[in-house]
Amino acid sequence: MMRATECLDEGSSIEDKIKTARHMYDSSSEKLKREPHIHQLIEKLEGCLEKSRKAMLKLGIIETCKHCDEEEGGSCCGAGMENKFDTFLLLINLLLGVSLPKGHRRPDSCYWLSDKGCVLRVRLILCVDYLCPRILSALSQDELVRLQNISGDELLTGFKLYDALKRFMRNTAGC
Ligand code: SF4
Ligand code: SF4
Repeated sequence: MMRATECLDEGSSIEDKIKTARHMYDSSSEKLKREPHIHQLIEKLEGCLEKSRKAMLKLGIIETCKHCDEEEGGSCCGAGMENKFDTFLLLINLLLGVSLPKGHRRPDSCYWLSDKGCVLRVRLILCVDYLCPRILSALSQDELVRLQNISGDELLTGFKLYDALKRFMRNTAGC
């Protein structure tokens, strides 16, 4: 049985948050996935993430960021960004099939950055929203508006799922 204190994040290291998220996942993932509202939101978020991925691929953003990271000395995913994540956001990633890394692969960058890009599927608003000047200048106004609408759906659905998970865990596990 999970103790309430195990859900608290404040001052925790990223390693501790990962440990707590895995614990929550092991003890509650089946229950969470069976809950109709949460199940529906997970499915919806999967769809939103796929739409975002396709849009970023089509607009060349994935390729530009890959080139920036691999050939030009580093992306904008700075060290310490991982500390803005809380346990529930990590739990959502586990529910969406992400395998959270056991160590910091690139200490000069965000904990979640691997040689193949970000390992997470559900990220911070800042990560989803941020478009650097190079990317912005390569997009037309129409493309930008379309991308922002797609990102907005991803963020809104992720927020609803986050909220639903938190309420469910509070009610059932006292988190
Ligand atoms: S958003 Fe811009 S700075 Fe960040 S990785 Fe992509 S190209 Fe590089
Ligand atoms: S996109 Fe991923 S690797 Fe980059 S800052 Fe956000 S969480 Fe970290």
